[in-house]
Amino acid sequence: MTTERGIALQSAGVVGLGLIGGSIARDLHALGVRVLGYDRDGATLDMACAEGVVDRALDESLTGLEDADAVIVAVPVLLLPDTLRTIKDATSARLITDVGSTKRSAIAAAESLGLGERFVGSHPMAGDHRSGWRASRKGLFADAIVYLCRTRRTGEEPVNLAQELWRALGARPRIIDAGAHDQLLAYASHLMQSVATALALTLDDAGVSRTDLGPGGSDSTRLAGGSVEMWTAIARDNADALVPAIRALEGRLAQLRAALAREDDDALHTAFAAARAWFARTEGDVGAEARR
Ligand code: NAD
Repeated sequence: MTTERGIALQSAGVVGLGLIGGSIARDLHALGVRVLGYDRDGATLDMACAEGVVDRALDESLTGLEDADAVIVAVPVLLLPDTLRTIKDATSARLITDVGSTKRSAIAAAESLGLGERFVGSHPMAGDHRSGWRASRKGLFADAIVYLCRTRRTGEEPVNLAQELWRALGARPRIIDAGAHDQLLAYASHLMQSVATALALTLDDAGVSRTDLGPGGSDSTRLAGGSVEMWTAIARDNADALVPAIRALEGRLAQLRAALAREDDDALHTAFAAARAWFARTEGDVGAEARR
C-alpha cells in the first residue's frame, strides 16, 4: 500500500541508527512507514524507541526483519559484509540497500552473499561532521544527490523502490557505476577529508588552534572534526582511488612550494589565477545542480 505521502512501503528495517540511519528512520517515521530498528549501541536504540521513531526494536539476530518491505543498512563501511550476512537470513525484503561512502565493496559483498538481485547500493551526499543518533535529524536529505549503484543482477523493482525511497526523503537519486562512484568520491569527498586532516595536524604542529582561525580557516578545517572510525574505514576501503588523488595534490603543493622558493611571481600568479578560473567556472555548475 502507498502511504499518504506517496511511498510504497509499509515497513522498513533500519540497521545502524547513527547520523545517517537515524535521519532516515526519522523521515520514514514522519512519512507513516513502520520502522523496525537495530543499533548495536543499546543507548542509541533506547533513545530511538523513546522518541517514538523506531516502532519495533530488534536484537542482533535481526529477527523481526521478515516483516520489512525494505532494509537500509547504515553502519560503518567495513562492517557492512557481516551485517548483510545476518540480514540475508532474516528478511525477504524487496529491497536491501546501504548508505556507505564507498560502493565497490558494498556491491561485491552483496553479490558474494547472493543478495545481488535485491541489493542497490546507496550513497547520500548529505551528512555532518557530527555523528550518532543525537546528530540525526529530519530533512537531512532534502535536495541532496544520492548515488545509486546496481549489482550485476539487481532487478528493476529494487532500483525503482530505491529511487522512490530516496525521493520520498526529498533526495535526488542518480544511478552510477560503483567504480565510477568510488573514483569520483576519492576526489570529491575523501581527498577533502584527507586535506582537512593534514591541515589540522600541520596547524597543531605549529601551535595554531581553531580559535586562531578566521572564517576561511574554520571552513577549511571543519571536516577534521569528523568521525575517526568512519573515516578510517572509508580511507582504507577506497585507498586505491585515494592514493593517486593525494599524490596529485602533493604534486600541486610541491609546485607552489617550488614557485615560492624561486620567488617566481609568474608561476604563483598562474597557479592562483587557474584555481580562481576553476572556482568561477564550476561555481555556476553547482548553482545549476542545486536548482535541478
Ligand atoms: P554514525 O557513527 O553516526 O552511526 C553509525 C551507527 O551504526 C552507530 O549508531 C553505531 O552504534 C551503529 N553500528 C555500528 N556497528 C553496528 C552493527 N554491527 N550493527 C548495528 N549497528 C551498528 O555514522 P554515520 O555518519 O551514520 O555513517 C553511517 C554510514 O553512512 C557509513 O557507512 C558512512 O560511510 C555513511 N555516510 C556517512 C556520511 C556522513 O557525513 N556522516 C554521509 C554519507 C554516508
